[in-house]
Amino acid sequence: MKNDERPLIACPQCDLLMREIPLPSKGAACCCRCGATLYRNLPDSLNRSLAFSISSAILFIIVNSFPLLGINLQGNANAVTLLQAVQSLWDQGMHLVSSLTFITAIFVPALEMGLMLYLLVPIRIGLVPPGVSPIMRLLQIIKPWGMVEVFMLGILVSLVKLVQDFRIIPGVALWSFVGLTVMLAAVASSFNPRDIWAHLDKDNDGKID
Ligand SMILES: [Zn+2]
Repeated sequence: MKNDERPLIACPQCDLLMREIPLPSKGAACCCRCGATLYRNLPDSLNRSLAFSISSAILFIIVNSFPLLGINLQGNANAVTLLQAVQSLWDQGMHLVSSLTFITAIFVPALEMGLMLYLLVPIRIGLVPPGVSPIMRLLQIIKPWGMVEVFMLGILVSLVKLVQDFRIIPGVALWSFVGLTVMLAAVASSFNPRDIWAHLDKDNDGKID
């Protein structure tokens, strides 16, 4: 391909227009004016993202199926799952802590994993899932929450510090929780939206809704 036939790309930071260049494996293209990263060549990013997303989903189910926190209720020691802890906080009138815990440790990770699997599984078997564009936009919107794993760890530590009755149970759920934080970080670093568009463009001649 001649130099002036290559597609144009705008820098997301300073809007400078440049021609795309082919990259070596694991290479990154940077803006020549401000140095922002334009795109990366991550070999096999679709397969890696899918594998990490499936592992995350399995660990997420295990985390939420086994007791993670020990809780003292009217003198009775109980072992509860994360969701039961959220319920218990709500019942004790701590609505803000309960809502924050639910959103950061359960809802956002579940939404992120759900969207990734909804996108990647059909693409892997050669289908185009309906609504690719809105889902890619939604993933961009929740990207600022992309440090989900950090929020999750933070909320767990805060729970034990804030609520005297809580203690962490060092069991299956806790080790899965640690694994889940690592897997979510791996999903974030391997996911490359550019590869998804390139893959879909190649198979569908741009007929994507
Ligand atoms: Zn720039």
